[in-house]
Amino acid sequence: MPRIVCENCEREYTGEKIGVNVIDIATGGDGFDPYPYRITSADRYRCTICRHVILCGFADQPTYHHEKRFSERLRRVLKSGNYVLSYERHSDKRAFLMRINEYMEGGNNA
Ligand SMILES: [Zn+2]
Repeated sequence: MPRIVCENCEREYTGEKIGVNVIDIATGGDGFDPYPYRITSADRYRCTICRHVILCGFADQPTYHHEKRFSERLRRVLKSGNYVLSYERHSDKRAFLMRINEYMEGGNNA
């Protein structure tokens, strides 16, 4: 368990959840929609004073979009609700969220 200290509050973060799925959303480039390209398990820590949250302790073996098991893992993770999205380009957020149900239903060949 890593030690993380909140500089503002002068207090150590505490582990809140082990095993949060971080889904990285890549920008699609010209004319293409942003798409999920990597899922990595990480841990969530929180400052008990200011409630600031960070994710760290990323697993060594993420699942990448070109792997066969990716779309099934993505579907399972999205349905579980235990995930955080991380955008390569924050302005892609709206476009991705408009299509997130396609990925949840597995109809998209991610
Ligand atoms: Zn704090």
